[in-house]
Amino acid sequence: MLLHKMASLQKPLGELGLIEQIRREFSAGSKAITLGIGDDCAILHPPAGAEVLVTTDFTLEGRHFRRDLHPPESVGHRCLARGLSDLAAMGATPLAAFLSLALPGAMLAESAGRDWVARFFSGLRALGELHRVPLAGGDTSESPGGNKGLILADIVLVGSAPKGAALRRSSGTAGDALYVTGQLGGAAAELATMLKRQRRILKTPTTEGHPHLFPEPRLDAGEALLRRQLATACIDMSDGLSTDLAHLCRSSGVCAEIEQAALPIHPLARKLGTEAALETALHGGEDYELLFTAPASVLMPTSLAGVPITRIGSIKHRRSGRPLMTMLTPDGSRVELQPGGWEHFSGIAKDRKKRPH
Ligand code: ADP
Ligand code: MG
Repeated sequence: MLLHKMASLQKPLGELGLIEQIRREFSAGSKAITLGIGDDCAILHPPAGAEVLVTTDFTLEGRHFRRDLHPPESVGHRCLARGLSDLAAMGATPLAAFLSLALPGAMLAESAGRDWVARFFSGLRALGELHRVPLAGGDTSESPGGNKGLILADIVLVGSAPKGAALRRSSGTAGDALYVTGQLGGAAAELATMLKRQRRILKTPTTEGHPHLFPEPRLDAGEALLRRQLATACIDMSDGLSTDLAHLCRSSGVCAEIEQAALPIHPLARKLGTEAALETALHGGEDYELLFTAPASVLMPTSLAGVPITRIGSIKHRRSGRPLMTMLTPDGSRVELQPGGWEHFSGIAKDRKKRPH
């Protein structure tokens, strides 16, 4: 996908000027939107017989991105991608996005700040257009702290799914096979390289091949899983395979066993060496791939919507004394797998200070 520019913001802008610019740039119509940016509320029109799904995600400077490290297009892309990935995990179709944005006061007064904002919206818009998800509203405010204020964004995604059909984390069943889309560990590997370089990637002409900067939410694969009734349970991997698999297992009341040799490790992770590659594939977060279960009897396609599907293990009954997750290693032994990916407030995550998650 090529990035294209939002018209650069030439003059000093106030809140109203910025909203007007956003309205102009994002006014593409959509059947799902009866009324978009410009009134007190948006009016959405979900398809007949659909349920409405809603998810919200913060993107906070210093926690999820660093202004000195991430190109602004990536920040806008990732902001929307997080919400889209949650919709993908439920098999939902996006209807509209809403963005609440707080910017340091000086940002709209200086051309470098306005350039940052324009590039942020370019990244967000490019991904929105790719998945035909319009921006239907939001809020804009000055963040506290004067020039030292932070950029804070909160995205709300509204989607739809046929009544009763949305994929959940809670319906995995003993005997099911366990699958992932795409490859694992690429995002954490790219981030590790960025942190080592400590230098901002100034511009990237395309979004491809950058699993950390430009993750690809698996909307089409999620919709296909729902439509073809292939999956019993599904979750998106925002926190890493080990952590998100633990969520699925707890929520479904089951255990899981994965096979180390079956893990599809991303080439960027492989470059880190065998041991680090495995670590990254198991525990590195933000791949935004889907992790799902399906009855072993289902003939699973090798790819869905152009994304490879890999069987990585199976689901087992919960029994006392049985670890929640185990891993079968290539020498045939079984090790207990601990959730080692990112868990907020748990103190488990390594390099916590370094990771802008
Ligand atoms: P109100 O004060 O009634 O909440 P605002 O002045 O905040 O209205 O917003 C005016 C319109 O612009 C609304 O439709 C709102 O959804 C939209 N809007 C405000 N900020 C953003 C933003 N950051 N992104 C998209 N739409 C926005
Ligand atoms: Mg408002």
